[in-house]
Amino acid sequence: MSKKTLSLQIKAEALRLGFSACGIARVDFVGESKVHLGQWLAEEKHAGMDYMSSHFDKRCDPRLLVEGCKSMVCVALNYYPSHKLRKDQLQFAYYAYGQDYHEVVKTKLTELFNYINEKLLSVHGRVFCDTAPILERYWAQQAGLGWIGKNTQLIIPKAGSYFFLGEILLDAELEYDSPMKSKCGTCQKCLDTCPTKALERPYLLNANRCISYLTIENKEEIPEEYISKIENHLYGCDDCQHCCPWNRFATPHLVPDFQPSEAFLSMEKADWLNLTVDQYRALFKGSAVKRSKYEGLIRNVKATQ
Ligand code: SF4
Ligand code: SF4
Repeated sequence: MSKKTLSLQIKAEALRLGFSACGIARVDFVGESKVHLGQWLAEEKHAGMDYMSSHFDKRCDPRLLVEGCKSMVCVALNYYPSHKLRKDQLQFAYYAYGQDYHEVVKTKLTELFNYINEKLLSVHGRVFCDTAPILERYWAQQAGLGWIGKNTQLIIPKAGSYFFLGEILLDAELEYDSPMKSKCGTCQKCLDTCPTKALERPYLLNANRCISYLTIENKEEIPEEYISKIENHLYGCDDCQHCCPWNRFATPHLVPDFQPSEAFLSMEKADWLNLTVDQYRALFKGSAVKRSKYEGLIRNVKATQ
């Protein structure tokens, strides 16, 4: 089978499995992005996310993750919800509405990997979804899925940015897609909209100021200077995505695991204030929200008052 036929079959199967987009990049050193990542880390823009500074060499060269790998198959899975919290309720980032995406994406990627091995050719490789030091957005851009916007999100043309990303590293040569150029143009709505000015300049996020970081990854108290900016952001923040013109193309996902529960959608402000540990466990069983732990969520509830 030719590289072209193999690649087309992999992409067709990815779409059949429910992925919204699939592209393929030649695996190589990340070049210029190493300099940007190094600067970002040196200036401590990653805040308390120490894992971002570990495995620096692997992050800059996927060949150190899977020996002999040649190709990166990149996929995107839509998570734009059809049922949303009302605007007067406390808000969660859309990605956290349903079940933990790591498992959902990895399960589908493993199916794709097995399909390649069983139906196309014998390969060695690994699947990833935010589970290894990989510059996921960079590689998605290299694989032609979309471009990294000024808000630092991966934007897919005519589809937007509400997508989980995943990758398969393979030791086979395939046909490669071309990197996509930015289509942000002169727009800078995301920079203007960000409540804390965490987007310090196009393509540069200072996590120390970002509400997503402050309400999810942050293990400390939320600094006083940002409390007044939290407003109704209970868990995460999508403001720099909601305002992006490309997200007017977003369409609801079809993944049952990402559907929010009725109990979650009916939570009012008073319910969050009185949330018990048992209620928390029941509401977020199997959810990525567990990352912030009960105490972290209660800290956020207080910050929204
Ligand atoms: S997630 Fe929110 S706080 Fe963070 S950069 Fe985007 S708009 Fe700003
Ligand atoms: S809001 Fe505008 S500048 Fe920001 S990512 Fe979207 S298109 Fe690009």
